[in-house]
Amino acid sequence: MQDYQNGLIAEVKAKNPSEPEFHQAVTEVIDSLTGVLEKHPEYRSAKILERMVEPERVLMFRVPWMDDRNDIQVNRGFRIEMNSAIGPYKGGLRFHASVNLGILKFLAFEQVFKNSLTTLPMGGGKGGSDFNPKGKSDAEVMRFCQSFMSELFRHIGPNTDVPAGDIGVGGREIGYMFGQYKRLANEFAGVLTGKGLNWGGSLIRPEATGFGAVYFAREMLATKNDTLDGKTCLVSGSGNVAQYAVQKLTELGAKVVTMSDSSGYIYDADGIDAEKLEFVMDLKNKQRGRISEYAKKFSSAVYTDADASSDHNPLWSHDANCAFPCATQNEINENDAKNLMKTGVILVSEGANMPTTAPGVEVFLAAKILYGPGKAANAGGVAVSGLEMAQNSMRYNWQAEEVDSRLQIIMSDIHGACMEAGERFGTPGNYVNGANIAGFLKVADSMIDQGLV
Ligand code: NDP
Repeated sequence: MQDYQNGLIAEVKAKNPSEPEFHQAVTEVIDSLTGVLEKHPEYRSAKILERMVEPERVLMFRVPWMDDRNDIQVNRGFRIEMNSAIGPYKGGLRFHASVNLGILKFLAFEQVFKNSLTTLPMGGGKGGSDFNPKGKSDAEVMRFCQSFMSELFRHIGPNTDVPAGDIGVGGREIGYMFGQYKRLANEFAGVLTGKGLNWGGSLIRPEATGFGAVYFAREMLATKNDTLDGKTCLVSGSGNVAQYAVQKLTELGAKVVTMSDSSGYIYDADGIDAEKLEFVMDLKNKQRGRISEYAKKFSSAVYTDADASSDHNPLWSHDANCAFPCATQNEINENDAKNLMKTGVILVSEGANMPTTAPGVEVFLAAKILYGPGKAANAGGVAVSGLEMAQNSMRYNWQAEEVDSRLQIIMSDIHGACMEAGERFGTPGNYVNGANIAGFLKVADSMIDQGLV
């Protein structure tokens, strides 16, 4: 079986050169499936994996827009429609200077398994642009979003492809894109999630990814009869996912001592309480400022600049019990993972997508800590996006408590499915294998049911 798996990985690398993140995501999944492929030869003979690594459709388009100085700017837009076996394509849009085809393919591939785990009927997709929203005026962001949607609108729809937010795409960007979609398609439809509450959004959607990663951590700890109460936690990032992870951790009695952005991180030994978090939310969501401002405002905090030349990130070297990477891919390398083990971390729950490098993952698995990979731990965001679609279809809004309780049930079910699949295929306690296997089975069986399409 190993020969088949290695051959497939080699083929993916050869066919998709210069896409290391895509190779990384595919390799992890294929490596997890040994037991499944041995027990179920039908997946191999139906070439399920060969089909899954090939997007159903890749869209790439020009996004021209005018900046505030009346200079013409040109960006590149993408949408990867990866797999629609179990529902319409679903997954976020990322606006960040680093965006390229390989990064979006890795994210779209992960999304297929994640969406399958949520128990909701959603296929997988991802998209975005190399547009960098930092330092842009509201008017520039609006013009960019309108131009982006002027092409994307013809490819999406409530039963076809339903994008959402991701890095650099929050409520403001979703609003501008929804407005342009509505104007071009001449219909008010649930074609994006993460919408404003006044126009079809769901309560708890902004909170869902961060809250979900904490609920997943709570489930993992419960298997050891432990709780988050009194735990010291490291969180990276200071965007949507990080903010709500910090909020829920604090509510559950944990103390969060770090947050970061791409410029650096703050360490606050006293903990980031509700009042300090409010400052961060205003700083990041309204002022669009840098996390270094936190240390100027609160004397208990120390700020450290990011150092790209260093072989580790000191954020992950502080004494703590739990870690929640919530910024971006590959932000925990092997050295960081080893440092986390030295500081006594017993749990890592990934709010971000693939924030740990492959050698870093090996460190966590070898140490047998509670390690919740992103495709399971951060599935709360897309799960509530699925609930937003359900509410849009019903033309009805649930109360916050209703959405939050459904989110908690979904995260508990995902945790249970990962545990069960990991155990059934011979790797108990390995949530990486569990998530990949449980996510794969539902999509693979659906693909077989639907024939060769
Ligand atoms: P935001 O744009 O709201 O925040 C991203 C945060 O990460 C910012 O603090 C940003 O700092 C930091 N960051 C981004 N890129 C880098 C980088 N290259 N190096 C260091 N720091 C970086 O995004 P989200 O919070 O929505 O997303 C964070 C992660 O969670 C991503 O991996 C995303 O794919 C994942 N995710 C998000 C979901 C959602 O619902 N939003 C759902 C599931 C997963 P700066 O401001 O300096 O760029």
